[in-house]
Amino acid sequence: MSDIKNSATESSQSEQRQFSAEVGRLLDLVVHSLYSDREIFLRELVANAADAMDKRRFESLTQANLALPENPHIMIMPDKKSKTLSVSDDGLGMSREELVQNLGTIARSGTKAFGEKLSNAKPEDRPNLIGQFGVGFYSAFMVADRVEVISRKAGTDEAAMWSSDGKGSYTLGKANREQAGTDIILYMKEDAEEFLEPHRLRAIIRKWADNISWPVVLRETKEDGTSDEQTINEGKALWLRPKSEVKPEQYTEFYHHIAHAFDEPYATLHWHAEGTVEFTSLLFLPGARPFDFMEQQDRESHIHLHVRRMFITDEAKLVPGWMRFVQGVVDTDDLPLNVSREMLQSTPVLARIRKAVTRRVLNEIKSRAKDNDESFRNFWNNFGSVIKEGLWEDSEHRQEIAEIALFHTTHDENLTTLDEYISRMKPEQEAIYYLVGESLSALKASAQLEGFRARGVEVLLLTDPVDSFWPDRLHSYKDKVLRSAAQSSSDLEKFESQVKDQGEAAETDKLVPALKEALGESVKEVRPTDRLTGSAVVLASEGGPDLAMQRLLRRSGQNLPPMAPVLEINPRHPLIRRLAERVAEGETIADYATVLLDLARVQEGESLPDPAGFSRRLTGLLAQ
Ligand code: ADP
Repeated sequence: MSDIKNSATESSQSEQRQFSAEVGRLLDLVVHSLYSDREIFLRELVANAADAMDKRRFESLTQANLALPENPHIMIMPDKKSKTLSVSDDGLGMSREELVQNLGTIARSGTKAFGEKLSNAKPEDRPNLIGQFGVGFYSAFMVADRVEVISRKAGTDEAAMWSSDGKGSYTLGKANREQAGTDIILYMKEDAEEFLEPHRLRAIIRKWADNISWPVVLRETKEDGTSDEQTINEGKALWLRPKSEVKPEQYTEFYHHIAHAFDEPYATLHWHAEGTVEFTSLLFLPGARPFDFMEQQDRESHIHLHVRRMFITDEAKLVPGWMRFVQGVVDTDDLPLNVSREMLQSTPVLARIRKAVTRRVLNEIKSRAKDNDESFRNFWNNFGSVIKEGLWEDSEHRQEIAEIALFHTTHDENLTTLDEYISRMKPEQEAIYYLVGESLSALKASAQLEGFRARGVEVLLLTDPVDSFWPDRLHSYKDKVLRSAAQSSSDLEKFESQVKDQGEAAETDKLVPALKEALGESVKEVRPTDRLTGSAVVLASEGGPDLAMQRLLRRSGQNLPPMAPVLEINPRHPLIRRLAERVAEGETIADYATVLLDLARVQEGESLPDPAGFSRRLTGLLAQ
């Protein structure tokens, strides 16, 4: 028994482990694709150090034993003799388990997809992608043959070491560290020794370290062995400087820093609010969509909250979830520095800030939407599907969001606003028609649109998941009801068809009951329609959610009662005319009926209840 225990302790002191498969692949890509932009490794490491110190400061508000040491700082130490570069911090540190968790695995969805995208991307686009994904720490392997991490978690007295050459495995061991915090030690590659030059390091850090509120200190060891320490950054919060003193490139650099982004922001909002609550804010609307933005489970805003320049949290939800693409900082003097989590949840100060920030951002988007120019359309393409979530969940701003929203339409290839749609409505038209589907191409080909096309009635084409939900909630816009085209066939009678020669219609008096009899309970009703111009059949739903919504609900695992659709037939279609003749001649059409219904399902993008049967029947009919 004691033997087993001993060996277990021993192996937990120093052991070799494999990276998770994703880390291995990612490392390979990062190391081989970023050569031209290698200096970003330093920004990533210093940003991690600053994050860890922010976290420690915040945690120490409620746990006194985690308090920061005097003069906390981030230290950068190049050593030409040993060819190492170290980045040390006084942050929260990591336990042995956390080293494994944080540096040995990637607990993120989309890692594989990211790897594929990265390897297919043009070399010049890769840094941008990597920034968006945030492979932060691993960028160290662009410049180092080996990376050693020595860390001691604040509040504990044990330190651990993690070491790897970035080729498949890493080693864990014990270590000593006098204080809590983390050292990252890079054993530099031969071709990366430029990063041991103090002047080079100083230049790199100056570019962005002003946005870090902790002192970043460079320790230079002279020939004679003496060393010299110099704080490189001013640490002056950019957002507190007057607008007139901030250069555009400083804004952009700050945005890159805070958003881990590389693009040019679409909009920069820098203002000081006074009134019921006082705060300063520097916010950005991104110019590009972050790589895994749509896959992210987290639907909350991460705007940073500062109190008197000190970072407090990025979880204060300063804008609603549908604005979660907004990046930046809000800094207020109206909260105490030792604000606790509980207080953050209940204080009216935050509620006021939230309201003011949301209003300001929405006004900015609205004023840009007025132009509906190329850059706004690009913004909408990036974030429109998220903004539309607000149509569903934000009753306060729903109408305003509807004003700025852009949609694909049957009118032309351009995106349209609801106001533009209304200006094109027919005199006798009362509703705004839309159709929800999987893709634009599927929608454009949908039989559901034939009747609207034939009558020149415009339909909005909606393809985002959230599009199945919000039209019901919004209900109407400027007194025009929103109505699904798939449920509005009866509206069509109002409009005159513009298709002149529609061909002869078959007599369906016998065909309709014959079809209904053959199909039984699978359809609610069979009826002739004059809304089709090219298709023989189309499905319609009556009452309840429309067909696209039903599909979505079923796919998301909801237990919908079976709802039999209505099968509408086009009496002018040659196939229907032929079937009507057969019925009149007393022939049976049971197989045709089933195939017709299945065709209508396929047209809608539904799955077939009995694909093998469909295939058998269709082959049989074709063979005749
Ligand atoms: P990211 O910073 O985007 O999460 P990284 O690969 O840079 O990704 O870092 C992974 C995790 O390792 C971080 O989220 C953090 O928990 C931890 N970490 C990295 N560097 C430090 C550090 N200096 N101190 C404490 N924790 C760190």
